[in-house]
Amino acid sequence: MTATVIDGKAFAATVREKVAAHVTRLKEEHGITPGLAVVLVGEDPASQVYVRSKGKQTVEVGMQSYEFKRDIDITEDELLALIAQLNADPSVHGILVQLPLPAHLDSDLVINAIDPAKDVDGFHISNVGLLGTGQKSMVPCTPLGCLMMLRDHHGSLSGLNAVVVGRSNIVGKPMAQLLLGDSCTVTIAHSRTKDLPEVVRRADIVVAAVGRPEMVIGDWIKPGATVIDVGINRIEKPEGGTRLVGDADYASCAAVAGAITPVPGGVGPMTIACLLANTITACCRANNLPEPEGLTA
Ligand code: NDP
Repeated sequence: MTATVIDGKAFAATVREKVAAHVTRLKEEHGITPGLAVVLVGEDPASQVYVRSKGKQTVEVGMQSYEFKRDIDITEDELLALIAQLNADPSVHGILVQLPLPAHLDSDLVINAIDPAKDVDGFHISNVGLLGTGQKSMVPCTPLGCLMMLRDHHGSLSGLNAVVVGRSNIVGKPMAQLLLGDSCTVTIAHSRTKDLPEVVRRADIVVAAVGRPEMVIGDWIKPGATVIDVGINRIEKPEGGTRLVGDADYASCAAVAGAITPVPGGVGPMTIACLLANTITACCRANNLPEPEGLTA
């Protein structure tokens, strides 16, 4: 079997189109421009690239982008004061604090200072609790993107066996909650899981979120299963230079799976698209307006 390639780049473009159409409607019919504020502390090059990309895509869909770059030695009180200011600003509908923060800042404290209604990353403890109890929440962007692609590919996910490999707070756990919400039978595997290959072999859906290059191999995959590869790893090429690979070994998995997301071009592009989707959802909720269809869990 050769797997269907789930094209995250193309899917992300359709999500952005939906968002852009809704932004136009909000502007024309209600005079509202959704606004996303991104806070970046320090000079981490990867974070700078992400923030630039987020800002560019925010503007492209017609939203207002606000960037707050702060020196690495900002105090916690100063950062909390900035967040309080953004919480109170009615033109800001979404607030994202780029992680990781420098070690002297308490990330949990900072994230939990964001108004949960503006927490477009879905990391605030209130949103974590709402998601865990099946209530309307802001949903973390990467798992939301995975869910959208799975729904699009399968239609209903009800009754499917899903194995999420990885239990981080930003990917694995919320992914598992979302799959449970769509009535999958969910297993969360992690570094202490016994006989991981056998656990993965039971899955109709495998979500690989381990941070280990090409760890999930085709031999672990049930024929016809869907493989969602969240991993982004840069590895050395034998001939020199580097290339991006996922947490699944693409060639061997694609030979067995029914469908698979590539790296790059799979889950990655969906993450920022879902950030924009969350911002428009937050904006609609803040203004008591109907939310666009299909852009949240
Ligand atoms: P974390 O490092 O926070 O978590 C990794 C998880 O994988 C942990 O739960 C860990 O288990 C588990 N794990 C590690 N090694 C093994 C192993 N040998 N067997 C089984 N489980 C293992 O990573 P993240 O969740 O933040 O990210 C996961 C991947 O997704 C990374 O490659 C990251 O780059 C990528 N990513 C991609 C995004 C995107 O936009 N596409 C966004 C965010 C992340 P334990 O808890 O027991 O230690």
